Amino acid sequence: MSFPDPRMIQLVMSLRGGGVTDKDVLGAVERTPRNLFVPERFGDQAYDDRPLPIDCGQTISQPLIVALMTQALKLGDRDKVLEIGTGSGYQAAILAKLARRVYSVERYRTLSKEAEARFAELGLSNIVTRVGDGSIGWPEQAPFDRVILTASAPERPDAILEQLKEGGIAVAPVDRGNTQILVRYEKTADGIVETDLMTVRFVPLIKGEARAL
Ligand code: SAH
Repeated sequence: MSFPDPRMIQLVMSLRGGGVTDKDVLGAVERTPRNLFVPERFGDQAYDDRPLPIDCGQTISQPLIVALMTQALKLGDRDKVLEIGTGSGYQAAILAKLARRVYSVERYRTLSKEAEARFAELGLSNIVTRVGDGSIGWPEQAPFDRVILTASAPERPDAILEQLKEGGIAVAPVDRGNTQILVRYEKTADGIVETDLMTVRFVPLIKGEARAL
């Protein structure tokens, strides 16, 4: 894709309209070709601000939600970030442009391998992937400066939050009755401070590694 692509300009404008004010986040979106992350048959919708189906019955998140979650993390370029739910790899690619290193866990091997191929194609060498159950975080690599869950947790994800450094920030969709709330957690010396951000809709966080695929 040659830049600036008119579809990309329109997407960035709609992100601004949706409350994304952080210029670094907008810049990272602008430099990430989303068409590479969606199945070919959805190529014409790659720059629409909507989620799309990917392999294994999963979804690539809506760009506005990706951008708002990234903005809520307040990333610094020295940060070590944990992502649960690699999926297409789109969110990881955006994080990788703003942080030092991204550790991303996915339970489907197929999705993880496809995402890895995209990272290689884009020259994103600061993303480390792993196939496994992200509901236990990534203990060998802990602690992290920032954590992002892109699948909805049934309750506060304490096992993962334990792997967050003091002063760190995590964002996660969490089930609350019939809805999901995007919650920001800040780890302070006195404990975890929780802030509800907005209502969201994510695929569920499922315990255990996927058997097939
Ligand atoms: N961040 C992704 C969104 C993918 S949807 C993107 O930008 O495309 C969420 C992903 O979380 C799915 O791929 C799903 O398989 C994965 N997932 C669900 N439960 C998981 C778990 N326990 N461990 C790791 N990945 C999980």
